[in-house]
Amino acid sequence: MIVTGSRITYSPKVFIPLTQRCRDACGYCTFAQPPARLAQPYLTADEVVKIARQGATAGCHEALFTLGERPEARYPDARAWLALHGYDSTVDYLVAMCRLVIAETGLLPHANAGALSEDELAALRPVTASQGMMIETLRADLRCHRGAPDKTPARRLATLDAAGRLAIPFTTGILVGIGEDRQDRIAALEAIARSHEGHGHVQEVIVQNFVPKPGTAMQDWPPCPADVLVETIALARSILPAAVHVQAPPNLSDDVVPLLEAGIDDFGGISPVTIDHVNPERAWPAAERLRAICEKHGTTLVPRLTVYPEFALDPTRWLDEAMRFPVLDRSDAEGLARDDPGVMLPQRTADVGQPLDGAEVSVIGRRSTVWCSGGSYDPPRLLPGSPRMGGRVGEILQGVEAGQEPGVEELTALFSARGPDVAAIARFADALRFEAVGDVVTFVKNRNINYTNICTFRCRFCGFAKGPLSLNLRGKPYLLDMDVIAERAREAWELGATEVCLQGGIHPQFDGEYYLAVCRAVKAAVPDIHVHAFTALEVTEGARRLGEPLESYLRRLKDAGLRSLPGTAAEILDDPVRRILCPDKVTTDEWLECHRAAHRVGLASNVTMMFGAVEQPVSWARHLVRTRDLQKETGGFTEFVGLPFVHMASPIYLTRQARRGPTFREVVLVHAVARIAYRGLIDNVQASWVKIGLRGAEQLLEGGANDLGGTLMNENISRAAGAEHGQCMDEESFRRLVSGLGRPLEQRTTLYGRAAALV
Ligand code: SF4
Repeated sequence: MIVTGSRITYSPKVFIPLTQRCRDACGYCTFAQPPARLAQPYLTADEVVKIARQGATAGCHEALFTLGERPEARYPDARAWLALHGYDSTVDYLVAMCRLVIAETGLLPHANAGALSEDELAALRPVTASQGMMIETLRADLRCHRGAPDKTPARRLATLDAAGRLAIPFTTGILVGIGEDRQDRIAALEAIARSHEGHGHVQEVIVQNFVPKPGTAMQDWPPCPADVLVETIALARSILPAAVHVQAPPNLSDDVVPLLEAGIDDFGGISPVTIDHVNPERAWPAAERLRAICEKHGTTLVPRLTVYPEFALDPTRWLDEAMRFPVLDRSDAEGLARDDPGVMLPQRTADVGQPLDGAEVSVIGRRSTVWCSGGSYDPPRLLPGSPRMGGRVGEILQGVEAGQEPGVEELTALFSARGPDVAAIARFADALRFEAVGDVVTFVKNRNINYTNICTFRCRFCGFAKGPLSLNLRGKPYLLDMDVIAERAREAWELGATEVCLQGGIHPQFDGEYYLAVCRAVKAAVPDIHVHAFTALEVTEGARRLGEPLESYLRRLKDAGLRSLPGTAAEILDDPVRRILCPDKVTTDEWLECHRAAHRVGLASNVTMMFGAVEQPVSWARHLVRTRDLQKETGGFTEFVGLPFVHMASPIYLTRQARRGPTFREVVLVHAVARIAYRGLIDNVQASWVKIGLRGAEQLLEGGANDLGGTLMNENISRAAGAEHGQCMDEESFRRLVSGLGRPLEQRTTLYGRAAALV
């Protein structure tokens, strides 16, 4: 399935010409250079790293290694250089340089090393996210290939099929205008289609127009006519299976709009730092110019990784184990490239023992500057942006405006929005926010009390829990005494808090009586404080360990002083994802049943959603629809709280099995789409400043959110996952933030009454 739709992708890349020596002599090529023109046959490792670093600093995701074919077979100095540096072959050296680039920069190598044997392709698979080789043409008698033993159709097709057998996401393509005719082009495209049908591995086909270059044997040939290029793109689109993307290089045509109209959905690699070494006379257009052209054309330019999403999202089939995390680390929820600006480098960590705090992992070395939830960098400014009302997103928003309820398919489409569609969704959500609650921004004065970090569960995202079964065994376990809990509640009340939020690990010695005792202790110390406590897991476990029906247990908790349940432990209410994130925790149905029972006995609760670890947007959509259905039944949810996954010290990230949390675009969309999905059912959407930071929260308030959550005098859970934002916020900081938006700030109660009415 092609995921792009109205999207046009490109790969932000840095071009690394590892060697410009080549044993072939193609009539159109200026890339290959003889010893007389290039003293050194290969880039050194230092030069490779230097170029890759420039690319990483400029925000690239791909390191495109382009090289001549097997230079050691022709040039003695290439053989000598490889031997001197301890390499058996060019491919051997390429493998080492790909590995070095991944380690130093995290950029994903794409190897373009020509016609290779199956063994050579296999050697590159553990150090590349994708590989490529142009078929060029299947005509064996072209003059331009007379001095090119690697350009025989048999060698090219053998390489293409070998890549398929090895399950390598592969880029290939044809050259148009080098002496072949229309039938030849059709034959080449049909051969590529056959190879893809056999293995499913061709991710894209480049349709590249011949452009004559001075100093080459073909310098006087006419360039490929624009109409022939356009016709060939249309042929490619109709001959190739729908799953194969079609690309044309944007720097080889003066006008890219006809290419878009002919059916391309990709512009290939575009480098902000290096020239196109294969076509050095043709500068790459700036991504911003292409973006503007696409938007005028009604499409959206989107960065991708060198490996396309269909392959990135099926890593066990398509990626060597060693490449799965490097790809995941640069992916967004759709398997496309993370699109927050900044430098992205591999995260390095060290232990720093901070007992009782949970934050035992510290990020060290050169740090990424790209935004991430819980990090210290401000997010990019996405809102208010320049909205566009059109396409699928426009249709869905118009439907909602007319009173239709968006289902899973529509919500997933909204979550996939990019560019001006994001601004359109946020503006629409902002209008719904005004319709539901007006301009007031609310917050609650509260204190978090995490009474124990000892837990028998094995949630793989959780850096907070300590215990024999926990995945993160570092740091000291603790269990607060009942009188410490009561004292903290008393302190909170004296400082003006109206709520205590109590959550913790599932201690092996707890039974349901513990939670009852906590409620009684808090209420005895501060009778009027609102007890907002216990996740669906804690309540379900409490009842189970007592052998008591859930509803009866919830009634007793209410009698003991409990007033509402936090929605945490929901994570993502989609069981396949829960099996990865928290395999032994309550299931989706159990979470929903717990909240259903709580609502039945008169306890309110909220919906939370932790997003950005391993799941895709369809799971967010299911989460919203399932909780919306329950809200229709009970009306017991007061708010939606989006909780972006904080990756830094999370076990699932440290064991290289999760993304770096959501991108900021995804954060904006989750809050805006939640506002749209819950229209008329849940009026409040909260921005979690602990994870997003105040600058991020400010933008969410422009895109559907109306609440800033709690002042949180202690918040250990996000910090245990590595969040760097503080442990508390004061009213003045909230006020400054909100006044910048021209909106009033009001203190609320937990259940969204005004605080003055309560105190
Ligand atoms: S998320 Fe909660 S249940 Fe899961 S391991 Fe952490 S403390 Fe335990």
